Amino acid sequence: MLDIAIIGAGLSGLALAEQLQNGERKIAVFEARARGGGRILTQTLADPKLALDLGPTWLWPDQQPRIAKLVHRLRLKLFQQWDKGHGLYQIDAGQAPSLYIDLETHAGSRRIEGGCGQLINGLMQLLPQASIHLQHRLFGLTDRGAYIDLEFATPTVHRHVRARQVVLAAPPRLLADTITFEPPLSAKFIRLLRDTPTWMAGHAKAVLVYEQPFWRQFGFSGNGLLRYHGAVLTELYDACPSDPQKAALFGFFGLPSAVRAYYRENLEERVVQQLTGLFGEQAANPLRISIQDWSTETFTARSEDQIPPNTHPAYGHPLLQLDHWQDKLYFCGTETASREGGYMEGALESAERVYKALML
Ligand SMILES: Cc1cc2nc3c(=O)[nH]c(=O)nc-3n(C[C@H](O)[C@H](O)[C@H](O)COP(=O)(O)OP(=O)(O)OC[C@H]3O[C@@H](n4cnc5c(N)ncnc54)[C@H](O)[C@@H]3O)c2cc1C
Repeated sequence: MLDIAIIGAGLSGLALAEQLQNGERKIAVFEARARGGGRILTQTLADPKLALDLGPTWLWPDQQPRIAKLVHRLRLKLFQQWDKGHGLYQIDAGQAPSLYIDLETHAGSRRIEGGCGQLINGLMQLLPQASIHLQHRLFGLTDRGAYIDLEFATPTVHRHVRARQVVLAAPPRLLADTITFEPPLSAKFIRLLRDTPTWMAGHAKAVLVYEQPFWRQFGFSGNGLLRYHGAVLTELYDACPSDPQKAALFGFFGLPSAVRAYYRENLEERVVQQLTGLFGEQAANPLRISIQDWSTETFTARSEDQIPPNTHPAYGHPLLQLDHWQDKLYFCGTETASREGGYMEGALESAERVYKALML
């Protein structure tokens, strides 16, 4: 019997496991995917040597103390988002973009050398390998009084595990839809879980690798805002490493999830066409393009996430921070955080809150 089972090896679940492992208790982390990290995903290329962040890119160490501390503990290096030069602003695809200087957007934001995935690699290395169970999808929880019965689907078998306490470190909406709770949680609480949007779950990113950061040579920062109907990418940013031997640009898609799916076969082509229109022929031949559509990720998004909220939701509803089943069941994850909910800092804040509750 486990003392604590943590569901989800995203940043919140791993950070919680790492805090708990120094105590006496027997803990384990169960993750549905074949990898840790959840919404944190860095694609590491060997040639050219590059780390492409397909999930989060930035952190703000001056106002996010937990992530700043974790970066320091893991001895990761930070560098500033490249912002020098003119940004491009286009409101009509048929007209030349106007230029702007932006000193605000990335004030205080930093990137991690080697990508945000370094946070996950670092935490996983601090945990005993045997305590992390990948490809274990939780689908059922039953309160047995003194403990909870957990049911997992693995690629080969269904597995039963018992734990005295369970922490669900995954998006609330996903949990409400994919896990059976016995006895059922109240209808009001399930509605609250379902009504909590999963941050960035409806979004998609394209990262393009180039031989040279040609935009910098033209005096452009790489920042772009494309505000016309049908724009394939609506926000662009420089994604070069700190020492740009090779170059990369990334963009958030403006096309909604359903339209991305419809155009999937030639989405790359559409991205390149748009960038060539903006920057000229230099943009026409990327060495590679990586597209990550989070709205199609089974262990992140639900159909309600396909249309993202227009503004940053108010996360950290107090009911999400309560324990259930007499102190045996907890909800963790960035959407449950009172501060910086949605961000990596929020994931760490939620882990800290649950850690304190478990230690009482
Ligand atoms: C495109 C994009 C850009 C972003 N940009 C930024 C940024 O620049 N800065 C920033 O701070 N944040 C950013 N974020 C948000 C950041 O990624 C999240 O705040 C953080 O990663 C959330 O961590 P988490 O542990 O709460 O949840 P998750 O990362 O979602 O982890 C939940 C884990 O639970 C697993 N899981 C789900 N269901 C089950 C189940 N039934 N059984 C077992 N395991 C399960 C999932 O596979 C996943 O690994 C971005 C996110 C995206 C997608």
